[in-house]
Amino acid sequence: NSPSPPESPKKPKRESIFEFKSEAAKKVELIAKSRDERRQKLAEEKSIRDQMGISEHNNPYYEFARMINEFKSSLEFHPLKDSDPVIENQITVCVRKRPLNTREKNRNEVDVITVPTKNQIIVHEPKHKVDLTKYLDNQHFRFDYVFDETCTNETVYKFTAQPLVKTIFEGGMATCFAYGQTGAGKTHTMGGEFKGKQQNFKNGIYALVATDVFSFLNQPSYKDKNLVVSASFFEIYGKVAYDLLAKKQRLRVLEDGKQVVQVVGLTERMVGKVDDIMDLIRKGSLERTSGQTSANSNSSRSHAVFQIILRKAGGKQLEGKFSLIDLAGNERGADNSKSNKQTRLEGADINKSLLALKECIRALGKKGKHCPFRESILTKILRDSFIGEKSRTCMIALISSSVGSVDHTLNTLRYADRVKELVANDFCEV
Ligand code: ADP
Ligand code: MG
Repeated sequence: NSPSPPESPKKPKRESIFEFKSEAAKKVELIAKSRDERRQKLAEEKSIRDQMGISEHNNPYYEFARMINEFKSSLEFHPLKDSDPVIENQITVCVRKRPLNTREKNRNEVDVITVPTKNQIIVHEPKHKVDLTKYLDNQHFRFDYVFDETCTNETVYKFTAQPLVKTIFEGGMATCFAYGQTGAGKTHTMGGEFKGKQQNFKNGIYALVATDVFSFLNQPSYKDKNLVVSASFFEIYGKVAYDLLAKKQRLRVLEDGKQVVQVVGLTERMVGKVDDIMDLIRKGSLERTSGQTSANSNSSRSHAVFQIILRKAGGKQLEGKFSLIDLAGNERGADNSKSNKQTRLEGADINKSLLALKECIRALGKKGKHCPFRESILTKILRDSFIGEKSRTCMIALISSSVGSVDHTLNTLRYADRVKELVANDFCEV
């Protein structure tokens, strides 16, 4: 029996080599892990940059952008499609989100609006806890339709004003309102898309309605009715109206014994074809902004009313009327302390008219409910549009997507929500 060999002195050494290697492997692993994490972070940053156009550098909203991005990645998106069915409502309320503009992008603003489906919208309101931890207050709203930043004026038209055109051929009144903060896209939607300072009046809702009115007029079923088309275009500033088809001539708004309100002397121009009406839209729109230092300074404080009127040929008898209204900026209703007396009074008038408008539309949807049309010039003028079962209306609430506008955006959405309260319980899982 040979004695058992002495323990090889190499063994422990080998172990230690092995241990050494394992340490090294661990380090390599760690390095690889941190590299992966770094890569992932960079990829995430890049994706935020690509999707939201912002980078971490000096951006106080970077953390919020990251959270919004994370929130969005958990959603399934089913936006509105042109082929989706158009629902016939007496009152339609919808929202259109405009994209961030170049100025907002240059300022590294964050887009805080998500449109997951054709009728839902989420506002990601940035907030801080008491210990200054950042968090998002995600507020959900539901409307008849929500148009995201990729929608064109034509799509918006298809689901909002277009279904109302037939109303005025069937003895009813139709109204379409653009509501929202100055700069959110009311005039872009109603009057036509802007390319720089040039406006393309052809793709505004005014022109799209006018085009459809003429094609209806030539349909056999309506041709026999012998109808003629006319149009008027005016602006309401405080308690006074100005004729946009007559060099902003000042017009008096009078009420007769039967509570019928008349805008005395308002131009009502007969039109025989689409081109005639296009001329009026162009003329009136340019008149509205003429003589202003900045495109928004004055027009944001007035309601613009464009009306297409159908009458029986030969007589004065009214068959139907489509009123399209580019409302004053809703932030103007809150103009108070800072401004001068004139601006404050105008602000109060705007506020009053927007509140009365909301109640009048609500009353239209509820039989027997009181319509407080006497509260403002706007609602007095539109009174006949808020009565009768045949009257239909639609409101397009315009919002901008940037974080800087989030308070105004929430105000706009809450107002629109009150105009037509839709049950908000069947949200998609988020
Ligand atoms: P408002 O009439 O509500 O004050 P505007 O319609 O004048 O606002 O819009 C302000 C600016 O934003 C315009 O330059 C307009 O072209 C742009 N804009 C508005 N909505 C959109 C949109 N959906 N897509 C692209 N640009 C838009
Ligand atoms: Mg405008």
